[in-house]
Amino acid sequence: MINTKRVPMASFTLFFLSITIILHVFVAATPSSSSASEQLSSSTLPTRFLDFAKKPETFDWMVNIRRKIHEYPELQYEEFKTSEVITEELDKLGISYKHPVAETGVIGYIGTRKPPFVALRADIDALPMQSKVPGKMHACGHDAHTAMVLGAAKILKQHEKEIQGTVVLVFQPAEEGGAGAKRIIEAGALENVSAIFGLHVMPNYRVGEVASRSGAIMAASGRFQATISGKGGHAAIPQHSIDPILAAANVIVSLQHLVSRESDPLDSQVVTVAKFQGGDAFNVIPDSVTIGGTFRTFSKESFKQLKQRIEQVIVGQAAVQRCNATVDFFQEKKPFYPAVINDGGLHKHFQNVAGSLLGTNKVMEMPPVMAAEDFAFYQEVIPGYFFFLGMQNDSSERLPLIHSPYFTVNEDALPYGASLHASLAATYLLKHHHDVTIVEGKNHDEL
Ligand SMILES: [Zn+2]
Ligand SMILES: [Zn+2]
Repeated sequence: MINTKRVPMASFTLFFLSITIILHVFVAATPSSSSASEQLSSSTLPTRFLDFAKKPETFDWMVNIRRKIHEYPELQYEEFKTSEVITEELDKLGISYKHPVAETGVIGYIGTRKPPFVALRADIDALPMQSKVPGKMHACGHDAHTAMVLGAAKILKQHEKEIQGTVVLVFQPAEEGGAGAKRIIEAGALENVSAIFGLHVMPNYRVGEVASRSGAIMAASGRFQATISGKGGHAAIPQHSIDPILAAANVIVSLQHLVSRESDPLDSQVVTVAKFQGGDAFNVIPDSVTIGGTFRTFSKESFKQLKQRIEQVIVGQAAVQRCNATVDFFQEKKPFYPAVINDGGLHKHFQNVAGSLLGTNKVMEMPPVMAAEDFAFYQEVIPGYFFFLGMQNDSSERLPLIHSPYFTVNEDALPYGASLHASLAATYLLKHHHDVTIVEGKNHDEL
């Protein structure tokens, strides 16, 4: 994922020297970056932004965008109409952008066009599920994510003079399995960006609540598929066949031993076989069976180990039943997702901003989950922070979870997401612009 080129020792020395200089400058700049006037701005910005986002003209505008995108769900790297909606709105707002980036992505810029740079991310793709449009549905709320980053863009554009740096808007394709974030990074969109924020709507929390944590919050994810081949024949004469159904059944049972017997119980892991395809007659033993599933861990080491053992167990257990097995991890087409690891410094920033925008009792600490998010790719190259935005109304029935065919977005959450995005970015820049003013021209470039 990250290019590793051979770098001469002299470059390393220079690199560490410049890091030391930056650190010294940062320490020296810290007192001046917390002047009274800025503290005032940082503390009042969030509520001002929330008020702006709640105004009927901003709210209705976001709702319309959300519904427009919802009507035309598009799958990974085919988000053509979706990116058209985004660029049209950016044009109307007078915000400059690059398009296309990573096939269908859009990267917008608000502020001075100078350092520091901070990024806000929205994923724009739909899921391959049934809706009014055959085989496509916005069942993960990415339509709402897009509307909220556009909402943040509207707020920030309105207050552009107060922005002490540049906000980079990242509308990325293909979150659902296509590793769009990785492509955005490869396209160079995050060069010079110091931090990135992203959110996901979450029906488990109430409107006006947010939840996150420092450190690991979502798991690394891989997928596998195996074909177990035997010898087909009459079901009543099994001695003339090699039964791949029985072999596959034993493979599945043995795979369950990996987490229960081989991994540390305190190191969370999952292996799930979610796919089993083989045979289509009551009285015929098929030639082969295909099974497939997913595996999750938090640590890179456990991930590597689990992948290796999945392959060994499938091939070895199939051999016990005289079958051959081949295992495919689809790494070329569908890169593994790393774990989502939230930066500790950005966690404090988030708690301050979300606390003053929503009230500290609305900022929840949540346990990690084994679901995956390609936001993790950004966090492998720059500090990043990912959080969940509540959608449940007290009065309404419990909302269906994401990826459910009944999934719905509670649009009341939109102003909170938009103003949180805008506040996180604007106050981050307020806090950090002194650091780069001093070293500008040496360590940062303009976009
Ligand atoms: Zn999803
Ligand atoms: Zn999602």
